[in-house]
Amino acid sequence: MKIPHPKTERTLVLIKPDGVQRSLIGEIIGRYERSGLKLAGLKMCIPTEAHIEEHYSLDPAWRRVTGEKTIKGYESKGLTPPSRDPLEITARILANLKKYLASGPVIAMAWQGAHAVAIVRKLTGGTEPLTSDVGTIRGDFVLDSYQMSDTDGRAVRNLVHASGSVKEAEAELAHWFSKKELIGYRLISEQILYDVNLDGLLE
Ligand code: ADP
Ligand code: MG
Repeated sequence: MKIPHPKTERTLVLIKPDGVQRSLIGEIIGRYERSGLKLAGLKMCIPTEAHIEEHYSLDPAWRRVTGEKTIKGYESKGLTPPSRDPLEITARILANLKKYLASGPVIAMAWQGAHAVAIVRKLTGGTEPLTSDVGTIRGDFVLDSYQMSDTDGRAVRNLVHASGSVKEAEAELAHWFSKKELIGYRLISEQILYDVNLDGLLE
């Protein structure tokens, strides 16, 4: 079987309702765009709570992993997590996430290019804005924390969703886009990113 070229990789990004409300659509798109990635699909929609629950149920390990990550986030700061049971924590997170993501319009996007999943995660930053790296979208434009969102009984507001792995990306893109909505086309700048020979540059 022929292994696909890395430049064909695609990932899903959602600008969540807080990103739209903060007027950060252009800034966020610009950050992904300037990396060299190509926009392969884009739409604005108001997702239903059922659509969001399905989205987070695509990966059967998500509930356990997210609960464990939250517990570690508390412990690394010397704080006591709200529960020691990862699934109990995620049940609460998911209920709040459904309300958060269905609260208003979101922008759904497909980005394509070499290592699209990993590049987009790097530009997006870690889940909790308090500890996301400076220079990332979540590190630069928002200030939320698990401690604050749990105290207030809501989802952590971190502006964007980005697929966590290639497998997750494929399932999530199929969940948000029909085949027809994902557009295959050539971007002139891909020559300088991917062409083997750079001859023809000089006049
Ligand atoms: P990511 O979006 O970085 O892939 P997860 O998949 O672990 O993160 O979680 C999905 C979303 O759920 C996060 O982006 C965030 O909005 C919310 N979330 C995750 N953990 C918590 C938490 N402990 N408290 C509140 N909201 C959370
Ligand atoms: Mg995730």
